[in-house]
Amino acid sequence: MSGYHDIEVERIGPVARISHNRPELRNAENTRLLEEMMDAAERASRDDGVRVIVIAGKGDHFSAGHDLKEGASRRDFTVEQRYAHEERLFYDFCLKIWDAPKPTICQVQGACVAAGFMLANMCDLIVASEDAFFADPVVQTLGAAAVEVLIHPTVLGHRLAMDMLYTGRRLTAAEGLSCGMVSRLVARSDLETATLELANQIAKAPPFALKLVKRSLHRALDMQGFRAALDAHFDTHQLSHATQEFKETWERGLSSGITRGKSAMRR
Ligand code: ZN
Repeated sequence: MSGYHDIEVERIGPVARISHNRPELRNAENTRLLEEMMDAAERASRDDGVRVIVIAGKGDHFSAGHDLKEGASRRDFTVEQRYAHEERLFYDFCLKIWDAPKPTICQVQGACVAAGFMLANMCDLIVASEDAFFADPVVQTLGAAAVEVLIHPTVLGHRLAMDMLYTGRRLTAAEGLSCGMVSRLVARSDLETATLELANQIAKAPPFALKLVKRSLHRALDMQGFRAALDAHFDTHQLSHATQEFKETWERGLSSGITRGKSAMRR
């Protein structure tokens, strides 16, 4: 499939694999990448031949998160402009992946940070390689109340989510496996094969039954208040963008080259 600039879409039997494709920028998610991913996910959701959707990243890292350089151009956004931008491109996009009417698997290597981490956790399952690490450092680095979709407690449990968000620390793939966030942990060289094996195993199941069981599992979370909590957090997150703390933390980040998070990633 062609026509995309910042993602790659491959059809491998019953699997549609949608990959971030900005490896030289650690697959930072810019607007075009997110628009393309939304389009590709919608097409894969509609295509009856696709039984499982894999979200992946080309190169050494899954994704370092939103493109902060591009984000700098939104510094002067009004509250209304930022709300509209993040609602459509970040929040609605993530929920679209969550609500995909077929199973989704995230294939993770290297950095899976901030918005990358948020997107990975919108998928039903995660296959990670041993070099993968997960973090949402934005309380510490940006002065923001976590990322836009507060998926962390659902996948990590309440206490580990607090630990990770307060400190900004990385979770290793092994920690992710032990807390149940990571579904399969494999060697880096086996990552693609293991993910496709899992996808193909799932694809053997009758698709309507899969769709229904996913719906039931998600509805159970919704009955516990999952979606209402996400909605509430999104508004709280927007409040955190409007604070003096955020402004000062952001300016400090800009003056030190924006990418403290990125240089931390290289360590
Ligand atoms: Zn935001």
